[in-house]
Amino acid sequence: MNKRFLLPAIALFFLPFFLFAQQIVQRDPTIEALVGQVSADSLRGHIDKLVSFGTRQTMSATTDPRRGIGAARRWVLSRFNDFARQSGGRMTARLDLWTLKPDGRRVDKPQEIGNVIATLKGSDPTDDRLFLVSGHIDSRVSNVMNRDADAPGANDDGSGTAAVIELARVLSKSQFPATVLFCVVSGEEQGLLGADSLAGTAFQQKWNIEAILNNDIMGSNNSNQTNIVTNTLVRVFSEGLPAYQTADKAASIRALGLENDGKARQLARYTKEVGERYVDNLEVVLIYRNDRYLRGGDHTPFVQRGFPAVRITEMNENYTHQHQDLRTEGGIRYGDYTEFMDFEYLRKNTALNLSVLANLAKAPATPQSVSMEVRSLSNATTLFWQAPKSGKPKGYYVLMRETNWPFWQKKLFTTKLGMTVPYSKDNYFFAVQAVGEEGNESLPVVPVGR
Ligand SMILES: [Zn+2]
Repeated sequence: MNKRFLLPAIALFFLPFFLFAQQIVQRDPTIEALVGQVSADSLRGHIDKLVSFGTRQTMSATTDPRRGIGAARRWVLSRFNDFARQSGGRMTARLDLWTLKPDGRRVDKPQEIGNVIATLKGSDPTDDRLFLVSGHIDSRVSNVMNRDADAPGANDDGSGTAAVIELARVLSKSQFPATVLFCVVSGEEQGLLGADSLAGTAFQQKWNIEAILNNDIMGSNNSNQTNIVTNTLVRVFSEGLPAYQTADKAASIRALGLENDGKARQLARYTKEVGERYVDNLEVVLIYRNDRYLRGGDHTPFVQRGFPAVRITEMNENYTHQHQDLRTEGGIRYGDYTEFMDFEYLRKNTALNLSVLANLAKAPATPQSVSMEVRSLSNATTLFWQAPKSGKPKGYYVLMRETNWPFWQKKLFTTKLGMTVPYSKDNYFFAVQAVGEEGNESLPVVPVGR
């Protein structure tokens, strides 16, 4: 073929594929613009400042103006207040303080502890949904009780804390129908104390929390053993069998094979779908367990109380950098230093959080009374639902997947409040999402039999 025609011919051949790809991506331009504002430099600035407090160990100084956990949380509060001032009155910030009693474990004296929380109030007074994002501000060295040594905690959990601060910065100028809470919690290393207190309040006051994204150790890209650099993969841990009211739910979970369809698992799948839609060169790896072996995180006090919560964490942990006294031994530099961070990786993981939070907070609430006709024996499946409590959906997606498939495979749109599909409920799992005017989806709801 004449060389002059070769390039146009190739372009023409691939054109339909590009058009098709664009159709299925469906990015919301508003969210895309917000994702673009997450900045690696800004994240580095937050972490440099956090590290500058020397230690943020939970039992460290609370009144020293420059060193210790007290100075660190007051600085976070001041940042949140800066963002609140540019929010047109939508954002407020507070420091929840209380006193820990010695517990014979990791609290050895009465100590003031505090969570720093910024609230971006939803614009729809009929919408009581809350979306939480968290990271823990406290740091540690080899001995968890050591409150004097330098404990930079750049990655654990400066990364999660910086992500929460950055999200508050970028989203403070936005307006969503639902409310977003930016939570910098404390006392994680002493036993998830800050998150437990927050989850307890949420449970007592019956907060309508639809999702909690907990970010812990998510800004470094290499393991100490393999030396593999992985900055395109991030893990999302989610519980299968619910930790809350397990006995009550066990019979129906067992009968219907729903052990893989709890609320946290739905949130994890949603995080993968929406995160990968907005963040390039990042693959979300779903880990089908609540957390790593014998280890905990701040999402756990929430899942134990029945809230949907997941842990977002880097692909390969580096144990010479985590929970270590600062030292050099056998040619290895131990300690959680800023120089081991990958800020471009942290930017992507922060952007992942942003896209999920914004898509959820913009979406209508979940459809209500989602049910499935189960009395008649049929090779077709009929689903029914009611409009959500808040928000105006333009329609609904019926989601389908084979029982042995990890992710939703089909997404069928309708404007009606029901759908019959020529697939057997015995062979597929189903769920229903509400879809907003600009394509933002609610979390999926699994039907109950009727
Ligand atoms: Zn941590």
